[in-house]
Amino acid sequence: MSDIKIGLETHVQLDTNTKLFCSCPNTFTEDEPNTNVCEVCLGHPGSKPQLNKKVLTQSLKTGLALNCKINENVFFSRKTYFYPDMSKNYQITQYEIPVAQNGEITVKVEDREIEVRIKRVHIEEDPAKLKHKGGDISDSDYTLVDYNRSGKPLLEIVTKPDFKSPKEAREYLKQLEKMLEYLGLYESESEYSLKTDANISRDGGERVEVKNITGTKDIEKALSYEATRQKQMIRRGREVKQETRSYNQSMSSTQKLREKESERDYGYIFDPDLTRQELTAKKQREIEEKLPELPQQKYERFKQQYELEDKLSESLISESKLAEDFERLSEEFESKLVASWLTGDLKKVLNYNDFTYENSPVKLSWIKSILELKTKDEITDRNAEELLRAVVEESKSPETILEEKDLLKEDDAEIEKQIEKVLEKNNSAIKDYENGDKEALNFLVGQVMQETQGKADPRESRELIKQKLEE
Ligand code: ZN
Ligand code: MN
Repeated sequence: MSDIKIGLETHVQLDTNTKLFCSCPNTFTEDEPNTNVCEVCLGHPGSKPQLNKKVLTQSLKTGLALNCKINENVFFSRKTYFYPDMSKNYQITQYEIPVAQNGEITVKVEDREIEVRIKRVHIEEDPAKLKHKGGDISDSDYTLVDYNRSGKPLLEIVTKPDFKSPKEAREYLKQLEKMLEYLGLYESESEYSLKTDANISRDGGERVEVKNITGTKDIEKALSYEATRQKQMIRRGREVKQETRSYNQSMSSTQKLREKESERDYGYIFDPDLTRQELTAKKQREIEEKLPELPQQKYERFKQQYELEDKLSESLISESKLAEDFERLSEEFESKLVASWLTGDLKKVLNYNDFTYENSPVKLSWIKSILELKTKDEITDRNAEELLRAVVEESKSPETILEEKDLLKEDDAEIEKQIEKVLEKNNSAIKDYENGDKEALNFLVGQVMQETQGKADPRESRELIKQKLEE
């Protein structure tokens, strides 16, 4: 049994046109520092924040997808603290009543499934960005503050301490990321980021918070380091105190930032500038009806409806666009062929060129053309792969590539002619074959492939050669 307990708090940057409480644009381009600001996001006295309603809908979607209870009356609070990343000296967040709470999701970890309880989902504003010059936070010469990020919308998703290993935490985050992508709230490998603070403790020690772990890849590394550090401290009889640490990506280690403050130290007070928001049962139902099918549901349905193996189904749902196009293609082609080609040949070429399906130049109509050539047996497997590579790398349609490169199968008469030619030129190989040398046949097939530049089907050519030699 593991003695590790991990809980995660994940901050999701939301894609909206404007910031959370003002009309400053919510962009991710590298703007000149401190130009994307106004009196609201800088917190000038007397300025009046107004809630961006889109964020309310987005948080409601997330809460419902995580099977949470939604609170009908939502309000905002000021989390008071003094730090240069917050010019108001408080962050507007939700404390007493979040948008959603008490949810639960099932997470696949290798061949097991674990239940993860969701404590709460709430909305808050992003603080400004601090730029530590000449080093990191512990040894920089000075720090600059860029308020462009100040007041951008964040969704915070907090779990109960239900993970028993760093790996479980990582699988949850991966699944969460995919779910947010399906909800249209997040794009992996975009400027939008997922940032996670992790609480981790072991028997005999107190809880340590590791701050600001970016993305899904680092979470396992950061937590593995911290779990080992705590284990060694406990074994040596040293006290693991409650504290906040930061994750150092380049060293894959954690460093102490400060002794942990408790929630009480923040002095939350109700924000009188923001009016109460109602999430009525009617509104909840409206949004629930429009929720898309989520990855886990799709995974199960694909297995059933298309009789796919676990691995194929999992690979197809890895991207919502890929899953969508799979279903479109399945209307025209045999679904098992489509599934294995999309997750095999296509994914291999995309990965090699650092594309996801979504951000690749490949169009659905192009895929249709290639699958058509394959199913009508107008191209060999080898040339189909070459065609696909060219399509991806040059981002041109299969038709254009075929005009440039001669990749389609030769007609039978032409192939027969080539075979005759090869046989005429290779008398000694024929003799070897007649003397029982099987390798000689392979050699002859190879010669035909060369003569026809891959446009002959190797299996068919082999049969034809055999027939001719045995005539
Ligand atoms: Zn503003
Ligand atoms: Mn937070």
